[in-house]
Amino acid sequence: MAQEDQLKKLISHCKEYGFIFPSSEIYDGLAAVYDYGQNGVELKNNIKEYWWKFMTRLHQNIVGIDAAIFMHPKTWEASGHVGAFNDPLIDNKDSKKRYRADNLIEEYRDKLQAKIDKEVEKAAKKFGESFDRAQFVSTNARVLEVQKQIDELTERYDRALNANDLNELRQIIIDCDIVCPISGTKNWTEVRQFNLMFKTQLGSVSEEASTIYLRPETAQGIFVNYLNVQKTGRMKIPFGIAQIGKAFRNEIVARQFVFRMREFEQMEMQFFIRPGSEMEWFKYWKEMRLRWHKTLGFGDDHYRYHDHEKLAHYANAATDIEFKFPMGFKEVEGIHSRTDFDLGQHQKFSGKKIQYFDPELCQSYTPYVIETSIGVDRMFMSVLSGAYTEEQLETEGAKDSRVVLKIPAALAPVKAAVLPLVKKDGLPELAEKLMKKLMLRFNCQYEEKDSIGKRYRRQDAIGTPFCITIDHQSVEDNTVTIRYRDSMKQERVAIDAVSDIIAKDCDINNLLAQLQD
Ligand code: ATP
Repeated sequence: MAQEDQLKKLISHCKEYGFIFPSSEIYDGLAAVYDYGQNGVELKNNIKEYWWKFMTRLHQNIVGIDAAIFMHPKTWEASGHVGAFNDPLIDNKDSKKRYRADNLIEEYRDKLQAKIDKEVEKAAKKFGESFDRAQFVSTNARVLEVQKQIDELTERYDRALNANDLNELRQIIIDCDIVCPISGTKNWTEVRQFNLMFKTQLGSVSEEASTIYLRPETAQGIFVNYLNVQKTGRMKIPFGIAQIGKAFRNEIVARQFVFRMREFEQMEMQFFIRPGSEMEWFKYWKEMRLRWHKTLGFGDDHYRYHDHEKLAHYANAATDIEFKFPMGFKEVEGIHSRTDFDLGQHQKFSGKKIQYFDPELCQSYTPYVIETSIGVDRMFMSVLSGAYTEEQLETEGAKDSRVVLKIPAALAPVKAAVLPLVKKDGLPELAEKLMKKLMLRFNCQYEEKDSIGKRYRRQDAIGTPFCITIDHQSVEDNTVTIRYRDSMKQERVAIDAVSDIIAKDCDINNLLAQLQD
């Protein structure tokens, strides 16, 4: 399936099955803002629980906070966001559309990479089992030529970014013949800087009101609370503070569904460490975070690291964990070594001493920080795109198909559906009794409308791992049929055993146990 088709299918599936709706849809929506529906919010909460428990339960030295979205305006001067939180933007004079110059170049580079991937795929098909990928990419003339273009472009692009050379960024766009996807022309404006922070007013009387910002990241709420948490929690370095919350960026080009939005949610953890130990901890968190992703079971080939060449003003090492989205490999999480930049800046701007006395070293210092920062919405999208499966089936000789979301059971929005086969003969009563018992442990759905086949398909489409059918035999012998989402196998089990069967697969602790060292 073409990448664009895949994304379109995902978007319409999300809408049709109550995962994600465009915001204020009755007014034709609001660009790049989305609302989570009845199934979306459950999945989102489960993702957050998986992250929160991983951080704060599995690590005795990590605690959580929930800081306000509004912060003192000086915060953003100290963090550098007022001065430097800019994206380079460029306009196409014909279509009047605005783009991020860096994104245009990166997309062009992705297209070059796609050419190589296509060549490799073709050759792999042709040579079958004897195909040697490494040898092919190091010898094939066509591949080598495109690879050379990628390498030269990357070098030039990184140099321009590092030097903040906006003219050179524009020149790269022109030299690469990059055209506007709407107008198809190369009629570009200059590249300009654009600050991504949303401004608003605090205070009821306009003359007295002061300008404040909607936070563009949750991290600063952690840094300004470093002393509070360290002292009241009597935390000893190394220790971490975790937070989940909304962040806001006035993205120039917000698109690709919930991948890039103007209001989104982050799960961030700042890990405070001794200066000098940052590379060791950077490596630790890089590996741990990838393990957290891989434990979901979408396949190791869905993930890769992307180490940053260009570092943000506060970082001395940075890497992204990328997921294979319908539109290719893209960042889902960033791991950054932020040095003592943030705490040092807050110390300077607030005039408060932000230091840690290390009893083992008998000295005070400003702690260094490793940050892990993941977008809830991108994570949500990665789970849905990894789970979305179209299957051709053969039932009793007839061709059939289904769309099934193979969401890891622990994250599934609905864990079980309770389905009386018919609406009479005491079946609904028995089903409701079971439902009452299950709802205390799991999010379940009760459905008695439509044929059982249709009900199964609806549950497949929202990723429900178990369907429990109550039939006439159930009333006689207290057994039910349990149908497994992925295999579609059915089994007869005692009604009293159902709750534990569901718990065995759906307990988030099963995922967490795999992550214990
Ligand atoms: P990008 O380069 O894609 O703009 P970034 O490097 O600016 O992302 P960070 O500042 O490192 O992103 O933010 C941490 C995480 O927050 C990202 O890995 C991503 O998952 C999420 N995130 C950032 N911007 C957005 C957005 N506009 N919409 C949704 N999620 C976002």
